[in-house]
Parts: sequence; C-alpha cells; structure tokens
Amino acid sequence: MQETDPGAIRSIAIVGGGTAGWMSAVLLGHALRGSDVRITVVESAEIGIVGVGEATIPPILDFLDLVGIDREAFIRETEATLKLGIRFQDWKTVGEHYWHPFGTFGVAIDRRPFHHHLQRAAAWDEPRGVVDFSLAAALAEAGRFTPPDPREGPARAGLRYALHFDAALVARTLRTVAERRGVRRLDRTVVDVTRTPAGHVDELLFREGDRLGADLFIDCSGFRGLLIEGAMAAGYEDWTRWLPCDRAVAGPTALNGEPQLYTLSHARDAGWRWRIPLQHRAGNGYVYSSRHIDDQAALDDLTRQVGGTFLAEPRQLRFTTGRRKAFWKGNVVALGLASGFLEPLESTSIHLVTSGLYKLLDHFPDRTFDPANIAAYNASLIEEYETIRDFIVAHYGLSARRDTPFWRDVTGQSLPDSLQSRIDLYRATGRCRARPGDLFADVNWFYVLHGLGLRPRHPDPLTGMSDAAAVRGVFDQVARDVAAGVSAAR
Ligand SMILES: Cc1cc2nc3c(=O)[nH]c(=O)nc-3n(C[C@H](O)[C@H](O)[C@H](O)COP(=O)(O)OP(=O)(O)OC[C@H]3O[C@@H](n4cnc5c(N)ncnc54)[C@H](O)[C@@H]3O)c2cc1C
Repeated sequence: MQETDPGAIRSIAIVGGGTAGWMSAVLLGHALRGSDVRITVVESAEIGIVGVGEATIPPILDFLDLVGIDREAFIRETEATLKLGIRFQDWKTVGEHYWHPFGTFGVAIDRRPFHHHLQRAAAWDEPRGVVDFSLAAALAEAGRFTPPDPREGPARAGLRYALHFDAALVARTLRTVAERRGVRRLDRTVVDVTRTPAGHVDELLFREGDRLGADLFIDCSGFRGLLIEGAMAAGYEDWTRWLPCDRAVAGPTALNGEPQLYTLSHARDAGWRWRIPLQHRAGNGYVYSSRHIDDQAALDDLTRQVGGTFLAEPRQLRFTTGRRKAFWKGNVVALGLASGFLEPLESTSIHLVTSGLYKLLDHFPDRTFDPANIAAYNASLIEEYETIRDFIVAHYGLSARRDTPFWRDVTGQSLPDSLQSRIDLYRATGRCRARPGDLFADVNWFYVLHGLGLRPRHPDPLTGMSDAAAVRGVFDQVARDVAAGVSAAR
C-alpha cells in the first residue's frame, strides 16, 4: 500500500511537447506510476517544435530501457539509424580528421588505461592510432555494424552505440507511450500565468480561455523559456565569448547510399556542418557565427556541401549559447532548450534532458519546495553543463586552423579557467581529471585532445615501468581483436 505524504506533489504540468516535454512525460509517468499524481502536457500546435536534435549518445538507450520502450520498435517508428561515434573532419587542419568513438578503448595494461600507454608509445613511433584500437571507430570507418557481445572478447564486450532519429517522430512516439500510460495532453497556447502569494506559478492561462493549475511545472517550452524566464526571470548566463556560433541553417537531403554509422561534424570557414543519416533521409545543418558569415553565404555553403538539393526548404535557427542562471526556481524546473543551449557538436542536448530528469528524481520535491533541495539540484546540473561546455570549447580553442577570421578568433580567445587547467594537466601528464559520473571520461578527452594534436610532455610514469615487449604484444592483440570484429560485422 502506498502511503502519501500530506505535502506530496499531486499534479505536474509540463509546458511543451517537443523532445524534452515528451521525454519528461514518459520518465515522470514511469517514476510515478501507481501514484495519484496527475501529469499533463500542454503543447501548442500553432507554435510547433524546433524539429532538429537528431543525433544522440549511448545513454539514450539506457533511457529507453529504463522507461520500458522496446528498442527495436523505437528504431522502426523514429526511422532511426545506429551511431558508433562522431567523425571530426577538418577540425585540426583542413584535410585531417579524428574520431570520437563510443565504447571502450583497448584494455588496461598493468592497471594503467590503454590510452596512457598509447601516449607513451609515441616514443617508439607507434604508427597505429584510435581507429586501429577502437572497434567503434573501425566499424564506423568500414561502414559495418556488429552488436556488443560480452562472449566475444573485450572489444565486442565494450562496444557501445547510440541513435540518429527523426525528432518529429520521436516526439510522436513518446507521446503515444505517455498517453497510453495515462498522461493527459492539452493542445493550448499559454499566454500568461497566475501566481501564489509565495511567487510560485499557480495556474497557466490559455489563449483558448481556460486555465490549468498544478503543484510542479516543468518548462519545456523551447528557447523562449516561457515559465523559467517569462514568469520566474531566472536570468541567462551568456557563453558566446567562448562559443560564438549563434545561428544554424538546417535542411534534409536524400541519403544517396547506405546510411553512415556516425555523425559527421565537418569544420567550415565560420563554424561547422553536421550530417546525420536516418533511414529515410539525411539531416544536414551548418552551425555558424553571424559575426563571421551572413545567412545567405552559410546557406550557399551548406547547399554546395550537400550536393545541391534539399527535400524541404532549409530553416534558419537563432540561439544564444549559455544556460539559465537557475534551472529550477520556485516550483518551475526548466529542461531542454528552455534550460539553455549548447551547440550540438557532441550531441549532448537530449542527454542533458535525461540527466536533468534523473537529477529531478534524485531531488524530487514536496510542496514546500525547500530552497536547499533546489540549490543542490541547480549546483549539480550547472557543473554538468559547464563540463560539457568546456569539452565543446576545447574542439575550437585547440584547433591548429588559422585560415579564416573565425578560426583566428576562436583559437585566439582565452579559455574558461576550468578548461585551461584541464588542458595544462593534459599537456603535462596526459591526464584529464574527469570525475566519477562525468559524461566525458578521461578517454573521451583523450580522443579530442589527441585528435587535435596535443601530446603530453611526460606521459603517465607508471606506463614506463611496464615491460615494453609485453605492451606491444597487448597492442597487437587489441588490433587483431578490432580487425576480427570488423571482419565478423555486416
Ligand atoms: C540547430 C540545432 C541542432 C541540434 N542538434 C541536436 C543534436 O544533434 N542532438 C541533440 O541532442 N540535440 C540537438 N539539438 C537540441 C535539441 O533540438 C533539443 O534539445 C531538443 O529538441 C529539445 O527541444 P525542446 O523540446 O526543449 O524544445 P522544442 O522542440 O522547441 O519544443 C517546445 C515546445 O513548447 C511548446 N510551446 C512553446 N511555447 C508555448 C506556449 N506559449 N504555449 C504552449 N506550448 C508552447 C511548443 O509547442 C513545443 O511543443 C539541436 C538544437 C538546434 C537548435
């Protein structure tokens, strides 16, 4: 029998029916199943969703498993393809590329991570690199896939993948799941709110004339941040000084062949271009800095890059990179684009929605909305946002490109202190100071910093104490396992 606290949350209103809104509805519906808590999603057909956001990272599969959505059915319904990592083209210099693959990298040798041994191997001119020792990178390059399998050695056991999917179909699929599980949906446009004497949001007022009250409001209204900014004036911290891209133009094209198993991130003169293959089309976009290129020139560049023909009129999007000063204020929690924006270079936005939701469950409030609880939630999400920001800034700040004003600007700027100290540590030791639970572990930083050409002055001293012949033997074995994994794949 459930025992309900007299101060417990009785109703939740989610404003927004994009990816963030419906993910929130599904996860909260799942977590609160069996309770009397009423969950309502309010979305406005006349406003619509942003409709981009199609590349993910592996934790998306954990989310689907957690809420009990069948992976195969989800892949079918959202026209999804599998993703093994990101290929960064022309980021270091024009003509070079590196991989940020998913999954494990080699095996530890004498309890030191494989990539630390690889850093030392530079001394004996080891010619092999990430693509020889990472099964995900090798498969992505070969255009083949094989599922993770713990019986087939460490490379297959450690393989991970994510999805590319159609954002509109994702919202529709999640909505079907949520509604089937009892979430109510209202097609309404919010025009105002009423407040409690404490300054919390009391009711949403709709253009249609009716209203909706709730105890807890989740703001998934997109860039406008209808509740968190419009009603609660949380404030916004602008990160444009580190990440100057402020616009994107996006449009779909035909696939032209088999979908690739990776997201392409192609550095351009004033930003970068993505290509995300789905089953029925490819998503493309150019994320750019309006200080360095105008809208027409950006569209022209994208059009040339995709080979000329879009399946639908390309759309322009504008954004300000940064985050809300508070993600949770009073009885309003912002998720998705309402919480802030980081460009999709590492496909992290949808992950930040799930991460915000998990943290919300860890800090689930009662109707007192204790400020200490809210502060703890905000602190943990701010830390995550800032770490991801630093990871993205590193791609720009460490590039060797100086060929356009954009690249001279982004490589000439001072970096956030938190990133600078991480890079200093990496340059000195090859270590990255990732904390347990960080989205990007030491090896993820290695892929990017190594890919951009950074080499530590003094690699991990313990790797020098391992028997060199034995280390080479492990390298050979890992490379053979990776090659065998590729041969066995389809
Ligand atoms: C160019 C670009 C590329 C991106 N690429 C990626 C990517 O590859 N991977 C990734 O993880 N993320 C990516 N993102 C981010 C991703 O798109 C978003 O995180 C995700 O789609 C969630 O959006 P949302 O649900 O917060 O907002 P939206 O999709 O904008 O939804 C907002 C909702 O609020 C509703 N609404 C707004 N105002 C009102 C109102 N007054 N009354 C009622 N309802 C209202 C709308 O109807 C809509 O349903 C990208 C973003 C951009 C801009």
